[in-house]
Amino acid sequence: GMKPLVAGNWKMNGLTAALAEIDRMAAGFDAALAGRIDLMVCPPATLLAALAARATGTGIAVGGQDCHAAASGAHTGDIAAEMIADAGGTAVIVGHSERRSDHGETDAVVKAKAEAALRAGLTAIVCIGETRAEREAGRTLEVVGGQLAGSLPDGAHAGNLVVAYEPVWAIGTGLTPTPADVAEVHGFLRGRLVALLGAEGSNVRILYGGSVKPSNAAELMAVPDVNGALVGGASLKAADFLGIAAAY
Ligand code: 13P
Repeated sequence: GMKPLVAGNWKMNGLTAALAEIDRMAAGFDAALAGRIDLMVCPPATLLAALAARATGTGIAVGGQDCHAAASGAHTGDIAAEMIADAGGTAVIVGHSERRSDHGETDAVVKAKAEAALRAGLTAIVCIGETRAEREAGRTLEVVGGQLAGSLPDGAHAGNLVVAYEPVWAIGTGLTPTPADVAEVHGFLRGRLVALLGAEGSNVRILYGGSVKPSNAAELMAVPDVNGALVGGASLKAADFLGIAAAY
């Protein structure tokens, strides 16, 4: 079957001292755990190269949090997928709700970024999720279905694509959907992935993200079609992050 992925998104957190956290994570990522799950940390761009170097040989993968669609050029402040690969990253998050809201990223922009990731040989972790208002209006499946269809890169397969379902209202709030609600969305996304990608779609990992912590990880990760977690706040400290990984 599919090996679950537990990925940490550090967001705009972490100065040089945070590099030591990877040593603590590596210490807990023993052969038994590594046999059950893949573990990844996505630090801010300033730490990417140093963290990737420090993670070498630990089995912990390193990824970026965003990339530009172009490979190089006059785009002040942006980084290319090729730069993430060059720094030692093997994946990049695209379309996180904070990018969509803070930077006005549309599905078309996210798709172009995801295609840049594949071009650079990275795994694209494509994020989608509904707002509180959209859920209350009963539009969740319509919204995430539209985001998925609009954001999926051409050339995607189970080896280079991960989808992360992150309800916007669950991010950083301590609120989570019920397991039944997560099952509904993930089951729907699985069907859409198979419709869009054919048989490959049944092997694409679908992560759940939004207020995942050690105390709720087991319940959320047991939901059908939940193939791992995208973790924000609880990925900053090795003890919490490993506590989530131990849900497997
Ligand atoms: P929290 O785990 O802090 O809710 O963040 C989730 C998230 O946005 C991960 O990308």
